[in-house]
Amino acid sequence: MEKMRAVVQHAAFDFRVELVDKPVPGPLEAVIQIEASGICAGDRIMYEGKAPWGIHDGEIPGHEYVGVITQTGEGFTEKYGLDLGDRCLAEVQIPCGECYCCRGGFYNLCDNPNGFLGGGWAEYMLLRCGAIIHRVPKNIDKLCAATIEPLSCGAYAVERAGVGMADTVVVAGMGIIGLAALQFAKLHTPYRLIALSATDASLAIARSFGVDAAINVLTENAPERIRELTGGVGCDVFIECSGVASSVSIGLDALKKRGRLAVYGVYTRNGDLNLNEISQNKELTLIGGHLSPNTMPYVIRCLEQGLVDPRPMITEVFKLDQFDEAINIRRKNPDSIKTLLVP
Ligand SMILES: [Zn+2]
Ligand SMILES: [Zn+2]
Repeated sequence: MEKMRAVVQHAAFDFRVELVDKPVPGPLEAVIQIEASGICAGDRIMYEGKAPWGIHDGEIPGHEYVGVITQTGEGFTEKYGLDLGDRCLAEVQIPCGECYCCRGGFYNLCDNPNGFLGGGWAEYMLLRCGAIIHRVPKNIDKLCAATIEPLSCGAYAVERAGVGMADTVVVAGMGIIGLAALQFAKLHTPYRLIALSATDASLAIARSFGVDAAINVLTENAPERIRELTGGVGCDVFIECSGVASSVSIGLDALKKRGRLAVYGVYTRNGDLNLNEISQNKELTLIGGHLSPNTMPYVIRCLEQGLVDPRPMITEVFKLDQFDEAINIRRKNPDSIKTLLVP
């Protein structure tokens, strides 16, 4: 069997670059040669053994990537309209296609998903049967293309929240998803756009995107600052992308009456929320968001047209063989945002 290099997970803090069998596509499947892949916050949690979904010994992680098709199984080209040499990526989850969520178009919430599609931290990756695959034009830089997955999360958070021309929009949490949400929110030209973060480095990137205010939640009173900026009223939309429960509280406090709170983060704690802000005080609208259904084609189009630019968020690029250094980068650079691996 042909071999390839890949990062294989074994146990917490024990992921190794190894020679493994190169995948072979079955019917309706394809193999892509990876050009670049990203390390996600979820991957780091998994590496540290803290992920609720655990560690799967022998599996290859990596769900943010782009690659070129090198092998196709029977019926693949007919089904997807993609052939050898075409560039593509697949969405993270393989939905069942039959439950009410899938039939309703919100397949990101599928009741019976056929697992997550990993394997991007390798030279080659199998796009399994049932994957939702998107063509990626070759004029998009490979490093930028490897960020399509997290960019799509940011775009979807904005889509869920809804952004109108008269809105003061606050995005909290300046990881790649929040920074992407800022860029996609800006495409709607809202009246005012405000970034919140706990680090000055990420706020500097937010400023470079042309936000009206960038507020450090650790050194400033964010709700008060937001009220100051809005004539005492508060913001219309608060998009929570930090994954920190106290940031949801900031949102409840900073929103104006009848404002919209969009919660996109993944939370390890529930926090202590003032629920009366939602009901009697403000009549808020609560919106959730998860993954990025029906969003990637839009994001790919935006990248192709140069409407969004992920390059300021790509803080490091490592060779696959330097995986240990890549996964531990936050020890050296606490301001790291997106770390990419290239085979
Ligand atoms: Zn991820
Ligand atoms: Zn389903």
